[in-house]
Amino acid sequence: SDVGTRCYYSESLRQWERQQGHAEQLIRAALANAGVRCFLQPIVDIVSGTARGFEALMRLEDPDEGLVNPGTFIEVAERTGLISPLWEMLMDQALPVLNDPGMLARFGDDFLISVNLSSRQLMDSRLLDLMLAACERHAVPQSRLQVEVTESAVLSDPVRASRILERMRAAGIQVAMDDFGSGYSSLAQLTSLPLDTVKIDRSLVLDVDTLPRKQHVLAAVVALCQRLEHGVVVEGVEDWETVTMLREWGVREIQGFFYARPMPMAQLIKQFELPLPLAAAGASANDAAG
Ligand code: C2E
Ligand code: MG
Ligand code: MG
Ligand code: MG
Repeated sequence: SDVGTRCYYSESLRQWERQQGHAEQLIRAALANAGVRCFLQPIVDIVSGTARGFEALMRLEDPDEGLVNPGTFIEVAERTGLISPLWEMLMDQALPVLNDPGMLARFGDDFLISVNLSSRQLMDSRLLDLMLAACERHAVPQSRLQVEVTESAVLSDPVRASRILERMRAAGIQVAMDDFGSGYSSLAQLTSLPLDTVKIDRSLVLDVDTLPRKQHVLAAVVALCQRLEHGVVVEGVEDWETVTMLREWGVREIQGFFYARPMPMAQLIKQFELPLPLAAAGASANDAAG
């Protein structure tokens, strides 16, 4: 009935508000109690079998709820502006990874750390200074830092975003377009934005083995990025068949559960004592908690 419908809407709205309020409390508690955790997921060069870099992915450690994934809190963090202090705490864990003796011993001395930027941060005029200060504080060269921005972050003001990204690149920081192929996928952005790398979204990879039409789309997007001479990373790769297919297409860099889930640095060093599996089918490093 009409009345029932109205009750339903206001109830779900209340529930939504409760969730948002809860997320905000989680964030504030994490900020107050140093509960921000940096998880790392390798971006694997499948030709050399080494990690080209690691994406820094945020988790919140809550005394009651344990580890909380970004799906629960990132949107609220962005809307409230709390993403900036969270991100500062993340950077203070992510940048030391670049100089960690265990990491250097296992992965060499030129891997990257890749951090996500929200649209609000991207449009903040102090961002570059903050990043340069963080690099200096942790004694890391800017060239080992990569930022990931999404199409939607750029969409609100592409001209301004372009200028900001150009300035970052001039400072030696690498720029990646994240989640390409999700959302609006403005192809124009691929030519107009100053990019080093395009990360192709997981949604384009999903079910690619069973849906031939999806395979055509993924192949075309990969080919386009290659023609534009952007570096290409394919995200969300979960099986060996997809690795093989991508390698045939000339894709070099892959990020996905097939190689590793995001995990804390100490666990990563332990898990990858041995070289990454390149030839053996099913040799997936899939047992870590994500
Ligand atoms: P993203 O930047 O696209 O990061 C990749 C996400 O895909 C991660 O989820 C990762 O765990 C997941 N993933 C990677 N490989 C696979 C796979 O093979 N299969 C599946 N099913 N998933 C895979 P996570 O860590 O939950 O992060 C979700 C999103 O939250 C990120 O997507 C990013 O947009 C946002 N995020 C995470 N950390 C930060 C941060 O520090 N700042 C900002 N602004 N956003 C962040
Ligand atoms: Mg990302
Ligand atoms: Mg992504
Ligand atoms: Mg994503």
